[in-house]
Amino acid sequence: MKTIGLLGGMSWESTVEYYRAINKGINVALGGLHSAKIAMLSVDFDHIEKLQHKKDWKGTAQILADAAKSIQVAGADFIVICTNTMHKVVPEIETEIDIPILHIVDATAEELVKNEIKTVGLLGTAFTMEQDFYKGRLNEKYGLNVLVPCEKDRRLVHQVIYEELCLGIINQESKSEYLRIIDALIKQGAEAIILGCTEIGMLLNQRDTSVRLFDTAKIHAAKAIHFALQD
Ligand code: GLU
Repeated sequence: MKTIGLLGGMSWESTVEYYRAINKGINVALGGLHSAKIAMLSVDFDHIEKLQHKKDWKGTAQILADAAKSIQVAGADFIVICTNTMHKVVPEIETEIDIPILHIVDATAEELVKNEIKTVGLLGTAFTMEQDFYKGRLNEKYGLNVLVPCEKDRRLVHQVIYEELCLGIINQESKSEYLRIIDALIKQGAEAIILGCTEIGMLLNQRDTSVRLFDTAKIHAAKAIHFALQD
């Protein structure tokens, strides 16, 4: 079994879910008292969030590249970055390490393609919904059409992530708003929805809607288990 490098803390609320899902998945696969081999480094999200909103992506890349180097030194065979947004700086991190990064967009897109989805709605931080590092990869590498909410709704989705979900706050009104936004995306032609922020699964799950949800945190963790157990 390979050692999984978890770069977490963004926020720790969703990193906990990765840690739990990966350990459970390894136990289901191997039985007995088996658990995952994990080298984890969890950053202080307050620093990252401040740099994000100042558009200092170079600053965030430096923090995450240093963390990734430490995870490599700790013995990880590959790295899982437990956030969608910070995949923006994957190219900068990759230049500083020798082990692979399991990309969250690739893991998610592979599931969408397997399920023959062509047009998908995307919920996430404003950075994820608006910038090319995420939508561009889905479109150029996998041929997916990506729909995002209108400007006002993008602002709401973003605000709920930073002011509620990253603090572990689950608000029923926010859940209703997210479901309304999902309905609007379906009306525009979305065949499925990407929960493109690793905390959204705390607010919503498949029981809340008939449209197929692709929860990036769950998909990414499942991919990590699969990769760790591959020869
Ligand atoms: N965990 C979130 C994501 O998947 C948002 C926090 C962050 O900005 O990293 O994008």
